[in-house]
Amino acid sequence: MMMFRSFIIFVMMCCWQAAEASEHKPLMPFVSAIGYLQDDSVTELSLAQVQQRFQNGDYIAVTQPFLTFGINHKTAWVRLSITNPISTQLRQSLVAAQTWVESVDVYLLQHQQVLKHWHAGDAEPASDHLVPTIGYMFDVDIPPAESEIFIRGQSLDPLTLPIALTSIEQARSQQIKTHVVLGIVYGFLLALIGFNMLLYISLKQIVALYYSFYIGCFVVMNLGYEGFAFSWFYPSSPQLQNYSTLFFMVLHGVCGLIFLSSYLPLSRKQSPLSRMLKLYVAVGIVSSVIAIFLQLHLLMSWIAFSFVTLTTLIMIVVALLNVAASVDARYLLLAVSFSMFGLLTSALSVWGIIPYTSWGFHGAEIGVVFEAMILATVLASRLRNIEQERITAQYLATHDLLTCLYNRRAFEDIAGQYLQQAENHCKPVSFIMIDIDHFKAVNDNYGHQVGDQALHQVAVLLSQQQRKNDILARWGGEEMAILLPDTALPQAVRYAEQLRALLECNPLTVAHKPIRITASFGVASCLIDIKQNCLATLFLEADHMLYMAKDSGRNLVAPAVAAVGISSPSVSTF
Ligand code: GH3
Ligand code: MG
Ligand code: MG
Repeated sequence: MMMFRSFIIFVMMCCWQAAEASEHKPLMPFVSAIGYLQDDSVTELSLAQVQQRFQNGDYIAVTQPFLTFGINHKTAWVRLSITNPISTQLRQSLVAAQTWVESVDVYLLQHQQVLKHWHAGDAEPASDHLVPTIGYMFDVDIPPAESEIFIRGQSLDPLTLPIALTSIEQARSQQIKTHVVLGIVYGFLLALIGFNMLLYISLKQIVALYYSFYIGCFVVMNLGYEGFAFSWFYPSSPQLQNYSTLFFMVLHGVCGLIFLSSYLPLSRKQSPLSRMLKLYVAVGIVSSVIAIFLQLHLLMSWIAFSFVTLTTLIMIVVALLNVAASVDARYLLLAVSFSMFGLLTSALSVWGIIPYTSWGFHGAEIGVVFEAMILATVLASRLRNIEQERITAQYLATHDLLTCLYNRRAFEDIAGQYLQQAENHCKPVSFIMIDIDHFKAVNDNYGHQVGDQALHQVAVLLSQQQRKNDILARWGGEEMAILLPDTALPQAVRYAEQLRALLECNPLTVAHKPIRITASFGVASCLIDIKQNCLATLFLEADHMLYMAKDSGRNLVAPAVAAVGISSPSVSTF
């Protein structure tokens, strides 16, 4: 618990660091004014026309540099008015757009003349300007005195321009911090996926597999969303970049709903709801596939962002509906609230519906880490209980509860397996049948309960003498059986005699009363070879010998001949 709490604090600190690191604070001492306009014209505005509109005051002035325009297909222009007070060029790092923006142009101007022009964006193969998690970055040499930077952003995804102009060192250190923190978050999520896969493989619990898919889709979506996927995996496939993140957003929602219905067994409890969810999932997938197939990027953006938002609400409503009936639903509600609130914050802040902040932008990662911690803990404890129940059921099926020895069925299974394994080795195996003498009298004299305790004590005594590979079981009633692998008849007889003497010489103490108990023993032995499965014969023979011992006066060991069925038995008395 302490470790869990420390881990939560650690993750909170990491998240805080991540937000801090990627917070493009307006450390822009050289920027005197920021303004933007959106291009409403049918034909695209040229840079000269944009300059003219800014000169005419036809723009919106802002004080904070995080600009979000949502999914609206319009090109946005931002102007930074810059003053460099020193007499030399000043090298600065400019973050101009989020990682998924399709086209970003940066113009550095002085005295209305373009000094330099950069171009980047998701619409073409990934360039060095793409810095995962930070955005599109450009090293700009700002000339002395007054200058301007114009940024043109255009995207069919949500258009987000979190602009920052900082020193190169500051930019690099922010980049490193952010990457380290995200590395820790991804590491944690990957470990969680592995852990749940193992739970699925070992316990066959499908809910753990669905949970792995759910987290897996988030990781893939996030790698795309932060720009890692484009930068690392498919830098020359802008088409893939355009659709993969959006598609995995939908898939993450789908896996979330599949996980939900397995976690809360909706299919059994609320079948109309379950049917509606299936329909909703099918609509999400089919519409996404059609949008991708027809290359309708804008439509796909709408589908993905709407699907994520709606799925959030569905998960919370379904958890709320089940809260009264199930503890699991309460945990689910708590966990999903974290992740969905985070995801929603991210989606809405890049959509432009709520003001863009770094916390909001990274809300998805922060939320999902908390969700993952809560659900992983709940799932692990739920699966531990299932495993415990399975072990208990298995124990009950194979053991006798009074004596805690194997029951007859388990004994026959284990003995059969042993003989099969030993088939080729031509080794002897022996079998001892034990029957307590006049046990009925114990019940009659002391009561059934005392009889039960006496039986238990006999089992304990026999277990204490059990050798490493012997199999001891309650055969039924007051009869016990022992299979002695690799043991020939003379050793088995000696061993049975030891047990007989032990019982005879150690009166049981039940309910503070000494009870003298003796038992009779039938011993049989056989050689295991490939042609003969002697188990059944061995049991019969030992049983027969037991009756011989009873007939001969009880408290005896009656051994058969060296190999089953070869000659007539004799009874040894001691
Ligand atoms: P013998 O020496 O011929 O074996 O005599 P016995 O009395 O032991 O044999 P019998 O088969 O006549 O009786 C077995 C008794 O064991 C009868 C039954 O009530 C008792 N018994 C069997 N299982 C249990 C049990 O689980 N608990 C108790 N208390 N008694 C049991
Ligand atoms: Mg008996
Ligand atoms: Mg009996």
